[in-house]
Amino acid sequence: MLVLSDLVKSHDVFELGPINLTVEDEVVSVLGPSGGGKTTLLSAIAGISDINAGTVVLNDADLTESPPEKRGIVLVFQDGALFPHMTAWENINYAATSPERVDVLAETLEITAILGQKASTLSGGERQRVALARSIAADPAALLLDEPLANLDAPIRRRLRHELRDLLASLDIPVVYVTHDQHEASIIGDRLAVIESGTIHQLGTPTEVFMRPKTPFVASFTGSVNLFQARVDETALVWGDRRIECPAHEYDVDQDVWFCIRPEYVTIADDTTNTNVFLGRIERRVFQGDDYLVTVSPDGMDETVELKLAPLAYNQLQIETREQMHISFERDAIHIIENA
Ligand code: ADP
Ligand code: MG
Repeated sequence: MLVLSDLVKSHDVFELGPINLTVEDEVVSVLGPSGGGKTTLLSAIAGISDINAGTVVLNDADLTESPPEKRGIVLVFQDGALFPHMTAWENINYAATSPERVDVLAETLEITAILGQKASTLSGGERQRVALARSIAADPAALLLDEPLANLDAPIRRRLRHELRDLLASLDIPVVYVTHDQHEASIIGDRLAVIESGTIHQLGTPTEVFMRPKTPFVASFTGSVNLFQARVDETALVWGDRRIECPAHEYDVDQDVWFCIRPEYVTIADDTTNTNVFLGRIERRVFQGDDYLVTVSPDGMDETVELKLAPLAYNQLQIETREQMHISFERDAIHIIENA
């Protein structure tokens, strides 16, 4: 178990923390934008840069004053630093507990074919995977990974996300997995921490964070692009001149709040007889490769709503040639965020 308490690290104008985070023998994904403080956090845990305050405790041992090489924590950098004159196999085997492990890891990470190659001749994505294999082969007490799949092409990245999920979970050590990709973070992490401006906005299971974001930032960064301001009424939300039925909540009447609904939960309706159904003008249709993103502007509103439609539904409903459509906000898919 890795315990970070009141961890603070300042750069010139940037401050990380105070971070309080406990990572059990599990994988915690840290999701956040570029410049959010992800690499700073990993360097602070690994002891690569001095911290300003706080403690790092691993399996009951206080490591705050220990040098990086004495911590038993391995950090795999974004660029996968390797010994350039050694082959990929030699790099992985360098600190490995058993040579057989090297071959098994190479198989899983799809680098068997390049094991004989000098590290200096490898591509960025290959280097990252060799560095990843090396770090796991070394049997660390905790593992910190900085965007390990970032340099890979989409198909292999998608395959490896699932392989890595199983591989990292099987290690039974605290793993902190940094990424700016929301899908990767939710596939790989048992829990997910969203970090921005050096602060952890929310920590929870991927479903909790995606379905019940605590801040507008978390909502938008995890893909809940339909984020609107509204006022709480006795039984509903008042959004512009509309009333939106929402799940039970504890907000006070007249309180200003945000509410959000993920684009995949906005549905198409036949007419406006039901609650939470709006007629709107279709502003934009974009084919995204696996689904369509349709932008609709509800009549009389300045705001737009995005919805995701499977290609089959898109075709059957003839969205391509329509000017208007009825959309519906499923009551239970509406999530309220405090307007802090
Ligand atoms: P991320 O990994 O999430 O992209 P970083 O942790 O690398 O973010 O950086 C967070 C912020 O700290 C950025 O604004 C970056 O410019 C700043 N920063 C990072 N390293 C240093 C450093 N060594 N000196 C000064 N500023 C730094
Ligand atoms: Mg970084």
